[in-house]
Amino acid sequence: MKVTVVGTGYVGLVTGACLAQVGNQVLCVDVDADKVARLQTGDVPIHEPDLPAMVQEGIAGGRLRFTTEVAEGITHGDFLFIAVGTPPDEDGSADLRHVLAVAGDIGRHLQRPVTVINKSTVPVGTAQKVRARIAAVLQDRAADIVFDVVSNPEFLKEGAAVADFMKPDRIIIGVDNVAAAERMRVLYAPFNRNHDRLIIMDPPSAELTKYAANVMLATKISLMNELAGLAERMGADIEQVRRGIGADPRIGYAFIYPGCGYGGSCFPKDVRALEYSARQYDFDAPLLAAVEKVNDRQKGLLEQKVVRALGEDLTGKTIAVWGLAFKPNTDDMREAPSRVLMEALWRRGAQVQAYDPVAMEEARRIYGGEPALRLCSDPYMACEGAEALVICTEWQQFRSPDFVRMRSLLRQPLIVDGRNIYDPAVVRAEGFAYHAIGRP
Ligand code: NAD
Repeated sequence: MKVTVVGTGYVGLVTGACLAQVGNQVLCVDVDADKVARLQTGDVPIHEPDLPAMVQEGIAGGRLRFTTEVAEGITHGDFLFIAVGTPPDEDGSADLRHVLAVAGDIGRHLQRPVTVINKSTVPVGTAQKVRARIAAVLQDRAADIVFDVVSNPEFLKEGAAVADFMKPDRIIIGVDNVAAAERMRVLYAPFNRNHDRLIIMDPPSAELTKYAANVMLATKISLMNELAGLAERMGADIEQVRRGIGADPRIGYAFIYPGCGYGGSCFPKDVRALEYSARQYDFDAPLLAAVEKVNDRQKGLLEQKVVRALGEDLTGKTIAVWGLAFKPNTDDMREAPSRVLMEALWRRGAQVQAYDPVAMEEARRIYGGEPALRLCSDPYMACEGAEALVICTEWQQFRSPDFVRMRSLLRQPLIVDGRNIYDPAVVRAEGFAYHAIGRP
């Protein structure tokens, strides 16, 4: 099948590469000429396990191509995916500018019947807006071309995006006619062999399903973080509590880790966007506001713990930071807790020595000119002469470090662990002062 994917970010590139992997002819379109130039040579600009090999295989096999030519893109595909960003506007609403720009492009260049598939995370009613925009532009051209608009939100996780796309938990298809649903079933058949993962519903329900999933997950995290705050004050250990509640199958162990707050490009913006939508419908949704408020407070916790140990004024002091990405296995630093921490430390006059296994280039892009940041090529180098080590991301390689070496490098044996990756008894036996989340 001929597929066009507009937008080659985390979602678009993974979608394009995976659809090419199973034999489709895929053309990916992006307005970012530098990104397209890199992708044309097989150079994948993001860190995502298995993605570079898949992209290179697709290119070599002639099934995957990249272009900045939107007209070429629109005329190529029978399926046109919209996978552009929907960043938060100042008021928290999802900014649909890019999505509707692509809808306009489709209207301008469409030559034959197609299925337009919206993969971006968008508020309820967007499928309708996309349809209206395409129809209006077609009408201006006096072109009578039929097309369907399908809502197909994406649930991949950064860091496991390829695996998630190839073996999805579910494929949500929001459609208003049976023929379009059948076409989607055929397109997704290669990813739907083991058992039927397609859940077909109306477009508004599909659009809300995406927000509902992210808000549910964000709520789990904020609730655990609120409980961690209580545990810390009451002399309980949230990690023991976590194991205790996870044993109940109605609760389960998944996604109930306390920590220094959620980040990334999805949870923060999607919670805010749903809050905004609730206001548009004049519906009071206090839980959503609370989830966000708890998370904002949580992101400030690491700074507080450092200040409690080292004092308010950190002028001339150096702090080591391990982990810059918002979670392991990605280089994405959007809304990462590490950023809130480092910016707070800089305001207090501290120097930061940071290490991340893959996000160093991204850190350089964001904070290149920051004199108080030293990016270190090795985690131990980051500890050299530092008053404390703060862990912001639970990378596997931080789990069993050489504590003796760390202690000899740090000026003070102090660890602030934002992800609770160590056993407090072990770390303290190694001679460290250890402050974690929700642990006595
Ligand atoms: P991203 O910012 O990484 O990539 C978006 C891409 O779209 C960029 O390369 C940009 O240049 C391109 N673009 C913007 N306007 C364009 C236009 N008019 N024509 C062509 N290309 C254009 O975004 P992302 O993380 O891939 O997210 C895309 C959407 O998917 C968002 O709505 C997001 O909420 C949703 N989503 C993201 C994830 C995730 O983990 N990142 C997961 C599920 C859903």
